[in-house]
Amino acid sequence: MKNFNPADNIQDLQYFGEFGGVNPSISDSSTYTFLSAKTMFDTFEGNMEGCYLYSRHSSPSNLYLDKALAAMEGTESANVSASGMGAITPTLLQLCGTGDHIVSSRTIYGGTYAFLKNFTPRLGIKTTFVDITKLDVVEAAITPETKVLYCETVSNPLLEVADIEGLSKIAKKHNLTLVVDNTFSPLSVSPARLGADIVIHSLTKYINGSSDTVGGVTCASQEFIDSLKNVNSGASMLLGPTMDSLRSASVMKNLRTLHIRMKQHSNNAMYLAERFEKDGLKTVYPGLESHPSHEIYKTMINPEYGFGGMMTLDVGTLAKANELMELMQAKNLGYLAVSLGFYKTLFSAPGTSTSSEIPMEEQIEMGLTDGLIRFSIGLDNDIKRTYQMMKACMIELNILTSESVLMV
Ligand code: PLP
Repeated sequence: MKNFNPADNIQDLQYFGEFGGVNPSISDSSTYTFLSAKTMFDTFEGNMEGCYLYSRHSSPSNLYLDKALAAMEGTESANVSASGMGAITPTLLQLCGTGDHIVSSRTIYGGTYAFLKNFTPRLGIKTTFVDITKLDVVEAAITPETKVLYCETVSNPLLEVADIEGLSKIAKKHNLTLVVDNTFSPLSVSPARLGADIVIHSLTKYINGSSDTVGGVTCASQEFIDSLKNVNSGASMLLGPTMDSLRSASVMKNLRTLHIRMKQHSNNAMYLAERFEKDGLKTVYPGLESHPSHEIYKTMINPEYGFGGMMTLDVGTLAKANELMELMQAKNLGYLAVSLGFYKTLFSAPGTSTSSEIPMEEQIEMGLTDGLIRFSIGLDNDIKRTYQMMKACMIELNILTSESVLMV
């Protein structure tokens, strides 16, 4: 991992605007002129570096962001898309066709789960969902038809950690493509450096960080990105989940502060997780020693960016979880909202929101309890004050007793 710092890689890129602007000029065009018909033909054939054809394929603004995200993940290339799902679905459809099989973690974002469980079977693609933390179980699920191993670095919403190096060994042994959704852990983890073949992000979350757009990216080899964008057979080109240039220019500006934001998210989440665990609440945070994958996660992260901003607390019942979230919102401690990576803390009960696509019996099996609240911890300046105010809410609702507040 030496000599690789994802934030430095982003900073070392230098782009100027058309008139020497410190930001690259935004390409406000859907189509591009050619000085000769031959160049247009060659561009169609994919043989003309630096020429633009049509913005569903690529645009200068999108290519700037592609390059920055490829530099961040240490991959040869990248392709941004209009949403995270707009990156995930074409990537998987590019890799798999009728008769193929995917082995996927069972704790993944509800939309991805629904795509694999309900949608891809219509195309003859089957998925086996496994406990990704058990490498023997993962390997046992592989069949001669398996093409892809799919997981999230830190899973949504249970914060299970995938041992990417271990999974990469299995993938190589069986000639599979290891696809990792790194949405929860940008900068903290560099999956391609640990052996992932393809790294995906929902840019909607930490990378953009201002909850004003959806967006996504696939980071991979040049060959794979070219295949996604191929005018005759590329899933991204043909399904058309293209990001708009104005939006990619805006995501690019937000990307520049990602390193500062990630450090603050991580520090704040660590502070709260340690305190709430001491108070006796069932707290899940990969930075806690009690987290089942803490030791392995410690070896995976680029330490300066910490263990991330996601944490869960189990307050017993859905009714209590709802009461607490409403009270915290009333006290301006955050918003009762799905999504993550905002400057303000966001909280939701995943069983009834972001993971509601997962049937109840499967939620129970994977440990997704009713009273679970998922927190995306914000950039609060004074996290001690936040802790005390959150704790006061918990005491008011009899989730914690006042003795523990006096012990602080
Ligand atoms: N991956 C993860 C881990 C997510 O949490 C989400 C959305 O919540 C997605 C992918 C999908 O991203 P988007 O909503 O940008 O399509």
